[in-house]
Amino acid sequence: MLPLTNRSKVVVKKEMSLYEKIYLPAVISGMIITMSHFFRKKPTIQYPEQKREFSGIYRGQHVLKRDENGAERCTSCGLCAVACPAEAITMTSAERKKGEEKLYREEKYAATYEINMLRCIFCGDCEEACPKEAIFLTDRMVIPEYNRKSFIYRKDILVEGIENDKRIDVTRRQTPAVIEFKKHKEFDHNRL
Ligand code: SF4
Ligand code: SF4
Repeated sequence: MLPLTNRSKVVVKKEMSLYEKIYLPAVISGMIITMSHFFRKKPTIQYPEQKREFSGIYRGQHVLKRDENGAERCTSCGLCAVACPAEAITMTSAERKKGEEKLYREEKYAATYEINMLRCIFCGDCEEACPKEAIFLTDRMVIPEYNRKSFIYRKDILVEGIENDKRIDVTRRQTPAVIEFKKHKEFDHNRL
């Protein structure tokens, strides 16, 4: 029969030599390889007690940021939802009332804000689209759950805490190139 490609090889069954027939050298060389691995530094870690350091640009669980006075930065403009390729973000808007200036930075705010973490592909497009530096992806992992409803993250999970020790540091994501770009107020994207 003609071969379909030229990659086929004819396998010749060789007679085993005496050295191969006693098997002991093969067993010993196998043991040497096993022992050499046994004393090596283990690449595994005891997660979750031990955690590896993530890259500065790792894209994990989102945070909705507050400004330096503790007011929510999000103005519910919807640009993140439009940019999201997975259609994972939904929100409803509300108008800020008198006396709520300390809670919400601008006149409009997100009364509800949801991200479906089962849809999210952690692309970071929402972060790039946001003109208010309100949403960032962080180096926090999305916690595994047993039911689908638990993966709908609402404001109670997404908005960072108001106290200083509950703030989420996103400076590692604000690279010099990003900071430089955001200085240019001539771009509509950067106007507050
Ligand atoms: S990271 Fe990407 S997929 Fe996830 S919510 Fe943001 S834009 Fe959507
Ligand atoms: S783009 Fe930013 S300000 Fe606009 S709704 Fe999304 S998080 Fe809020």
